[in-house]
Amino acid sequence: MKQTHASTIGIVGAGIGGLAAAIALTRAGHDVIVFEQAKQFARVGADINLTPNAVRALDGLGAGDAARVTAARPTHRISRSYDTGEETSRLEMADTAERQYGAPQLTIHRADLLAALTDMFPAERVLLGKRATSITPDDDGVSIAFEDGTSARVGALIGADGIHSVVRTAMFGAESPRFTGIVAYRAVVPADRLQGVPNLGAFTKWWGPNPQSQIVTFPLNRGRDIFIFATTPQDTWHLESWTAPGSVDELREQYVAYHPEARALLDACDTVLKTALYERDPMPAWTAGRMSLLGDAAHPMLPFMAQGAGMAIEDAVVLARHLEGVPAADIPAALRRYERARIERTSQIQLGSRGNNWLREGGNADWVYGYDAWAVPLAAAEEPVTA
Ligand SMILES: Cc1cc2nc3c(=O)[nH]c(=O)nc-3n(C[C@H](O)[C@H](O)[C@H](O)COP(=O)(O)OP(=O)(O)OC[C@H]3O[C@@H](n4cnc5c(N)ncnc54)[C@H](O)[C@@H]3O)c2cc1C
Repeated sequence: MKQTHASTIGIVGAGIGGLAAAIALTRAGHDVIVFEQAKQFARVGADINLTPNAVRALDGLGAGDAARVTAARPTHRISRSYDTGEETSRLEMADTAERQYGAPQLTIHRADLLAALTDMFPAERVLLGKRATSITPDDDGVSIAFEDGTSARVGALIGADGIHSVVRTAMFGAESPRFTGIVAYRAVVPADRLQGVPNLGAFTKWWGPNPQSQIVTFPLNRGRDIFIFATTPQDTWHLESWTAPGSVDELREQYVAYHPEARALLDACDTVLKTALYERDPMPAWTAGRMSLLGDAAHPMLPFMAQGAGMAIEDAVVLARHLEGVPAADIPAALRRYERARIERTSQIQLGSRGNNWLREGGNADWVYGYDAWAVPLAAAEEPVTA
């Protein structure tokens, strides 16, 4: 059965970026429909870090208050050396960030953030169990075929379908993301088991002996739990998963050279999840005709600047601002303007995340945290081509 929505903007993927875009585009006057492969929203994943730039974008969508119900609000952003424990930088967050950037940093379970976003968008416009398998564009719209044998046609399509985006493949051909040779361990520990470990209310990054090795901790569930995110080089594990278990013993072995306060965090873990980390190079373009990309579909990045979700939410807001009041015929040009407005920033953050040196010993946080997706200038219209 084919559903036709000729004047509708379709979004593939009801993750953080897809839902944020659905809300923002609806507000900008468009009819929006979202196609999500999952059959239901499950509580998968763990903590998402939303720095002030992301929270301000979320607040403008109207989802910030709901997110604050379960989110924690880190007091500081602290860098420490893995072996000596020396503090190499400290930024005030919380009230100071709120004064400086108009929003605090929030750390929140991904499922709670998704819930805050789904509450703002009509449930009947999110079609679950719709795994897009092929995408066929033409001059007037885009046809999408789904794994369940159905299909749909929309006037324009946004690929918000994550790092393995089928929309991206349809636009630019198949190209697998690159295994970075890094694995990540994720664990959640009740805060009351960590008595004696300082700064539990802060976002703390223990910088390891190489740029791939670190332990990051921050509060979750309003501080009742502490989230632990540890990375290390390991080229023998290639499985990319949000649910695969790892070994707690292996986790502890990897960080024996770390300071006792860092190791105390790992000693408190009962279970851990493990995943390989993949990324891509920045793209020179991510728009083609009536299709464009956002979030991880456009610019998957390593987690070292904690900007994956933030970039997706910023994209959504800037996309909708470029499409506000734009008639169907002008959507391709508006999508190109959106891409132009975003690509430099997201590329810089992709490369900065790969380099993993930002805020190690102080430095400028403003260019990341001070970005206001609701206020940045829109990209200018393209000059008409003259003969
Ligand atoms: C299940 C899951 C758990 C995660 N957990 C964490 C976490 O704990 N911490 C963290 O920092 N980051 C996590 N992430 C990644 C994080 O959400 C993203 O890096 C970031 O938020 C960018 O968001 P995005 O919307 O671009 O991509 P994503 O959040 O990855 O969303 C992509 C969406 O597209 C859907 N999709 C993919 N392919 C198709 C298709 N062919 N057809 C239809 N729908 C499709 C996916 O099911 C997903 O809902 C998780 C991602 C997923 C999918």
